[in-house]
Amino acid sequence: MAVPDPYIILGIDRSANEREIKIRYQQLVRKCHPDKLHPDSTPIQRAEATEEFHKLSSAYQLLINKDSRLKYDVEQKSNEVTEKSIINETISLNEMILSGEGERREYVYDCRCGGVYTISAGELLKEELIVPCDTCSLNVQVIHSH
Ligand SMILES: [Zn+2]
Repeated sequence: MAVPDPYIILGIDRSANEREIKIRYQQLVRKCHPDKLHPDSTPIQRAEATEEFHKLSSAYQLLINKDSRLKYDVEQKSNEVTEKSIINETISLNEMILSGEGERREYVYDCRCGGVYTISAGELLKEELIVPCDTCSLNVQVIHSH
């Protein structure tokens, strides 16, 4: 599961400076701060506002602290790199070779390293699959439409 992106939560640029982050946070938090709610607010409205407030606060705290922001940025960058580099190729299910029968049916595709990519019948419930090679660190993305 992806971690909510604090930049998106606060609606700011990745290059935003401390001052911009602070201003933006204060603007947003004004609408949902638990102390600033209308006295007639329903419990649901209160709960929503509180949730929003916590979301904004944790995004803000992550970005306003230089260390945690740097750590977050570095992690994001390395995730992007990994995601890009591991997909060797995108193929459609038709390009894979069917072997086995019934429940034990599986689709295989040769990797250039000599290993194979294998999908079992059960995995086909998903429309888009990332399949790892059984030998090397490459993956293929398999597009499969029902
Ligand atoms: Zn391989």
